[in-house]
Amino acid sequence: MNDFSYVRAADIDGALRLAAQPGAAFIAGGTNLVDLIKGGVAEPRVLVDITRITALATVQESAPGGVRIGALAPNSDLALHPLIVARYPLLSQALLSGASAQLRNMATVGGNVLQRTRCYYFYDTGFERCNKRRPGSGCGAREGYNRMHAILGGSEHCIAVNPSDMCVALAALDAVVEVRSLRGIRRIPMTEFHRLPGDTPQRDTNLGAGELITAVELPPSRYARHSHYLKLRDRASYAFALVSVAVGLAFDGEHIAAAGVALGGVAPKPWRLAALEAELRGRRLADLDLGALAAAAMTDAETFAHNGFKPELARRAIVRALGVAAGREAA
Ligand code: SF4
Repeated sequence: MNDFSYVRAADIDGALRLAAQPGAAFIAGGTNLVDLIKGGVAEPRVLVDITRITALATVQESAPGGVRIGALAPNSDLALHPLIVARYPLLSQALLSGASAQLRNMATVGGNVLQRTRCYYFYDTGFERCNKRRPGSGCGAREGYNRMHAILGGSEHCIAVNPSDMCVALAALDAVVEVRSLRGIRRIPMTEFHRLPGDTPQRDTNLGAGELITAVELPPSRYARHSHYLKLRDRASYAFALVSVAVGLAFDGEHIAAAGVALGGVAPKPWRLAALEAELRGRRLADLDLGALAAAAMTDAETFAHNGFKPELARRAIVRALGVAAGREAA
């Protein structure tokens, strides 16, 4: 039994002050945190409810021509927001591929960014060995059942994947996460928000103590006409990605002027393919050997007993997502 107190914050400053208490955690939709508490994985002493802070729920154009998304915007609302549908269809598509309609109604943008891995050993406290849950206890997944686990960016201490679809699209779109604390405001690029496990797998993100995600900022849209989110999973109705690919392309005539490509389901964080993007820029898609470029992106992949299929699945998914984004293939 985890005893905790519950307080409701009226505004951002109040929430930050309440969160300064030992063992405090913010709660909004609760679609992940409540599961973690019920399973004994998370044991907060104070839950700070931020759902009544309406200033955090807005989605609006930002001064530089981008969009500022409040951290409390529900995933369902955001996916169908006219600004997102028109300018960032990649994000809309990724959001609608995640979870179920009921969960998307409850889950917020900030909560989606902070959702924890779905590694079975992490959630089942009956397993002793999980470095993310109990630092120093070992990793049950490396020698256990690891079909869903990472092939890129893992460490000997943890090979868990980040489960978010939304964050893969945000990484490809060069989104920035705004966080606030009693010390002030910080902006962290989405590609640097989540951490690789290294020898501290218990830390998923670079969010500091007492910091609250207040918004996600999107730069001016470049990929509205040419983008695609491809998610491959065991069940089309509701499952986390085995592999996903977010692609945004901008063309100057037949040549690719800009590209954002990121993978999900393969790494502890959204996995941006910067080298692949560099190969695409300035070239005509028809002149490129996309299969070879995608294979090169998998060069560092390390597979385990049950996920040996992932590098080839990812290679094919990258090629297909690029073709659909470019308009060469039907979705
Ligand atoms: Fe725990 Fe990470 Fe190993 Fe899963 S992969 S058992 S989360 S240490």
